[in-house]
Amino acid sequence: YGDLDIYSARISGYLRNNLNSKKPVIVIGHKHPYLITSFVACSRSGRAYVPVDSGFPTARIKDIIEAVEPELIIITDNSICKDSLLLKNSAIQSIDIADIEKIISKEGFKDDESTWVNGEDDYYIIFTSGSTGRPKGVRLTSNCLDNFIDWAVTLRKDVRLDDEKHRIYINQAPYSFDLSVFDLYTSLFTGGTIGAITKDMQSDSEELYGFLKRMNPNIWISTPSFSEIALMADIFNQELMPNIEEFIFCGETLTNKTAGKLINRFPKAIVVNTFGPTESTVAVTGIIIDEDIIEKYNPLPIGIPKQGTYIYIMDEDRNILNDGEKGEIVIVGDTVSSGYWNNEEKTREAFDSMTVDGIKYRLYHTRDKGYYKDGFLFYCGRLDLQIKLHGYRIEIEDIESNLLN
Ligand code: AMP
Repeated sequence: YGDLDIYSARISGYLRNNLNSKKPVIVIGHKHPYLITSFVACSRSGRAYVPVDSGFPTARIKDIIEAVEPELIIITDNSICKDSLLLKNSAIQSIDIADIEKIISKEGFKDDESTWVNGEDDYYIIFTSGSTGRPKGVRLTSNCLDNFIDWAVTLRKDVRLDDEKHRIYINQAPYSFDLSVFDLYTSLFTGGTIGAITKDMQSDSEELYGFLKRMNPNIWISTPSFSEIALMADIFNQELMPNIEEFIFCGETLTNKTAGKLINRFPKAIVVNTFGPTESTVAVTGIIIDEDIIEKYNPLPIGIPKQGTYIYIMDEDRNILNDGEKGEIVIVGDTVSSGYWNNEEKTREAFDSMTVDGIKYRLYHTRDKGYYKDGFLFYCGRLDLQIKLHGYRIEIEDIESNLLN
């Protein structure tokens, strides 16, 4: 944490001294510590960051660069060839690991709290699949992130914010996927440790289980698909991770079978199902899944809305439906995105506002289908052609449009 503080302050000083605009900074890499350091540096310099995993296809990275038109790209992966991103003849500057090392070794760059990102400034912009074949940049403000963290840290069995226990978090999602915001920021906020699982580890079971044993984590945050892969080997049990307290899931359906297996293999841990789109800062509902819930409901509930969020089920004419009736899940609240980057048309289609108890909130049409029962929200598929593949969101029209091109 000491290094993170000093290094991010120095990089933020570099950004303040070398950039003319407050344009978002694209940060490319895969789980490198400088990736996180760069995120913090951007925020300290008053700039939003756009996380891009280096595993993305080059064409996708170029689409994002084209959409953002950044002044600077930070590359924290030496396998990325700058020239392949067409930086050569453009005005876009870039810095890599060697440059970062020079910057962080120099004293003299001073942090200035008055420049930090805050309030309704964009904190990060995450690009997701777009039906036109071009990725959509979802803008999340500093307020959105604050409101999300306030809730996310309470998703524990024994919540005590003054609890000074040091916790180790398992990060599975790449930082370009909003699920990673869950582990990254709850961990940073509570002074925890992040054990980031790399792409290589995910395809080498021996390395993966060895890493989990060495990390001995307390909190696990992943897509359900990833835990299903981990569950394939019998050694994935309480003995491998004796300190595990909690499994938190988001991003796709958690099945009764997977939740049941986890409770069986990890009798000391709790399993939490959460739901939410990138457009409303990671997750907006949560519920602890125990044996009673597994027995009573199939599919499992996705929970109850977090504080500051109101969720309605609406029909095609945007009338609010009653309990038990199926319709679109509409999110109203303090973590809803301020819209898509440079894309007014898509923003107008999906976003609106609503006043609840005298407070005006942003509103997002998820195109998810759901219903309320017994006070819980349930998810039952999509109203459009979006799918999830290994936890990643893809609009089928995105593929179609690229094939046609
Ligand atoms: P993303 O923006 O990548 O996080 O994807 C958001 C979408 O993932 C939602 O709109 C849902 O379709 C799906 N999703 C998220 N959480 C859950 C969940 N707990 N159960 C089922 N689907 C989910």
